[in-house]
Amino acid sequence: MSNDAQHGPSIRFLGAAGTVTGSRFLLEHEDTKVMVDCGLFQGLKELRLKNWSPLPVDPAEIDAVVLTHAHLDHCGYTPRLVKDGFRGRVHMTEYTAKLADVVLRDSARIQMEDAAYAAKKKFSKHNPPVALYDEDDARHAVQLFTTHPFHERVQIATETFVTLRPSGHILGAAFVEVEFFGKRLLFTGDMGRDNHPLLVSPEAIPAGHFDAVITESTYGDRQHDAITSEFQDIINETVDGGGSVLIPAFAVDRTEVILVKLRELVETGAIRRVPIFADSPMALTALDFYRDAIDHHSPEIRAEVADEWDGRDPFDPGTLTELRTVDESKTINNPTNASIIISASGMATGGRVVHHLRQMLTNPKHTIMLVGYQAVGTRGRTLVDGAEFVRMHGEEVPVRARIEQVQSFSVHADGPGLIDWMRTASEAPKRVFVVHGEAGAADVFSQMIHSELGWPSMVPHDGQRVAL
Ligand SMILES: [Zn+2]
Repeated sequence: MSNDAQHGPSIRFLGAAGTVTGSRFLLEHEDTKVMVDCGLFQGLKELRLKNWSPLPVDPAEIDAVVLTHAHLDHCGYTPRLVKDGFRGRVHMTEYTAKLADVVLRDSARIQMEDAAYAAKKKFSKHNPPVALYDEDDARHAVQLFTTHPFHERVQIATETFVTLRPSGHILGAAFVEVEFFGKRLLFTGDMGRDNHPLLVSPEAIPAGHFDAVITESTYGDRQHDAITSEFQDIINETVDGGGSVLIPAFAVDRTEVILVKLRELVETGAIRRVPIFADSPMALTALDFYRDAIDHHSPEIRAEVADEWDGRDPFDPGTLTELRTVDESKTINNPTNASIIISASGMATGGRVVHHLRQMLTNPKHTIMLVGYQAVGTRGRTLVDGAEFVRMHGEEVPVRARIEQVQSFSVHADGPGLIDWMRTASEAPKRVFVVHGEAGAADVFSQMIHSELGWPSMVPHDGQRVAL
């Protein structure tokens, strides 16, 4: 910690420093405290345990929170913050509010189930085991939500103004300009790519000088492949062999992107017209918000998409079945006819996809296709890394199904993509903080910023406070 951090506005990195999850950045000046993103740590147990460490500041002293988007690693700590005394407003876009409502209630349910399970198995440190937060806490958090249109400059605390702009990552996602006691900051949140089938490309960086850019670096050390024929080849090979393809997909956005792609492939005859099942209640709720955004020509939806699909459904080639209840979900367990099943969670850590995996993993006819980022410590990562067995419901399940990872569906910009976006800045910022990447990726990306753009860049460590 530098000494001058005590004087003048400062930023503290309370998560997503040297890791991908737990985005929380605290801006402080005198009595004013504002948090940008309020995410949950996910993945390895040592990371998840960090959700239980109290913040270094009293949540009651935080004036306001800004959320960039509705992914759990950016919004999932909010109910705990409220449980621990936060009483300010939580600012975000309209669709982030709709999605975060669903995401936080689902998260609360999982936290409660985990606590109940720990109680039964008697392995909790807490006696009796408690949930990180429950559904009441989630409801209280949602009551504090305050929405703003894109591009509107709003005051959220003393000498603190925010402006949200489309980042093209998921519905509602924004990158955030924060003016904090005269300092001008840019938080990327998660930055999307130029090729999202539904969402507009990330908007250019607003003109003028920034005192700091706080950028994600999830794929900062990588370059995505162009969309390849890999996806359709894997489906065709599996279906031709009478098997089914199971796609674990994040409920919010990835499911939509996959469905649009499948609809195109069916319509052009690139894949066979087999039944497609969307099997995740949260994904189906999110799907309805995407349909709503398209029908309302929301500014973050590509104009050509809104025009072409107004009143029609871009997600269904005529073979889509939406499985809303558990009983409906069970009808496709252990599929005997070729089909494509999309189910959450995306890293196979929980949700209905676990039941499908349990049934399908042991059968070499089937394919498990992983299409998203697989964090270290998750079941999805274990599969990608080639494990011969995975632990599920307390037993070791042999992996006989075909395991494939297709990267072309990433909704994160890669290193060169982020650099191109940064080139839209009218002038060099005073400095860049690289966050939201595993240690290697963040370091590589930080060096890339320095070598490609000549901007001063650093990877802050967890808990570090820096004067602005
Ligand atoms: Zn995200």
